[in-house]
Amino acid sequence: MSVICVGSVAFDAIETPFGKTDKIIGGAGTYISLAASYFASSVKLVSVVGEDFPATAINHFKNRGIDVSGLQIKEGEKSFFWKGKYHNDLNSRDTLVTELNVLETFDPIIPASYQNADFLMLGNLSPSVQMQVIERIEKRPKFVALDTMNFWMDSSMNELLQVMKKVDVLMINDEEARQFTKEYSLVKAANKILETGIRYLVIKKGEHGALLFHGKHVFFAPALPLEDVFDPTGAGDSFAGGFMGYLDKTKDVGFDNLKRAVIYGSAMASFCVEKFGTERLENLKRDEVVRRIREFVNLVSVDIDLV
Ligand code: AMP
Repeated sequence: MSVICVGSVAFDAIETPFGKTDKIIGGAGTYISLAASYFASSVKLVSVVGEDFPATAINHFKNRGIDVSGLQIKEGEKSFFWKGKYHNDLNSRDTLVTELNVLETFDPIIPASYQNADFLMLGNLSPSVQMQVIERIEKRPKFVALDTMNFWMDSSMNELLQVMKKVDVLMINDEEARQFTKEYSLVKAANKILETGIRYLVIKKGEHGALLFHGKHVFFAPALPLEDVFDPTGAGDSFAGGFMGYLDKTKDVGFDNLKRAVIYGSAMASFCVEKFGTERLENLKRDEVVRRIREFVNLVSVDIDLV
């Protein structure tokens, strides 16, 4: 059993009200696979970097047991680079630089050893690359999740709708759901998205938690109220990794188990934002994770008598 994680492996430069970094390791594929590695029996990364990407960073993946045979290293080329600056509320950010570099010509390779995976997480990349990955996996995984962003809705809506037909869950944030549907109400937006035929929808609301929609059902999980949030970069990807890792561990893709997966995803996102970049996700202890899940359970549990 395993989770294939597809997404950028990158250099990021981040500025928040608490400080700024030079180039550090980032990328959606990085956050997804690190977060999933705490639960999934096997995590298999599909991505591409340039020859400037440090071997020590690739070793971090290997140290977490992540299979990197689908990570291409392009001689003579540069890795994807993204620079972002957060506003004071940390809920919004400006992208200052996007240098696609190796991502511009990314032609994903699915090694033979990845072929029987039960779970596929398609991180935020162009819908045409996401479709190539789907087509190159011979047997459809049991459960496929998709992330995307405003940029692809503006530039490749038709391709994105084609990819959505092939997946089980779409994970987007509130702003993206509104842009996708032109509806301000998230309930109306969710209904419109579910009308496309997709079975499940997750709408992430940053520090205000996440909603899971399925038919007429809706589930809400709060985000953990943290004293210090240093860097929200990768929170959505860490959510996706925790969510898919939990499903792989428990092998149940019913609605009730997806609710639990939302809690695991939220827990991994809460760790991610506590330090810059991937630092917090690299060396978590099992009991830290267990304690955090309990905090979530306690946060939302209440005994109530109906009067
Ligand atoms: P998130 O904070 O969950 O939106 O993810 C942030 C990560 O996405 C950063 O580490 C970036 O390297 C990566 N990223 C930003 N823009 C893109 C893009 N256009 N394509 C692929 N990855 C991106």
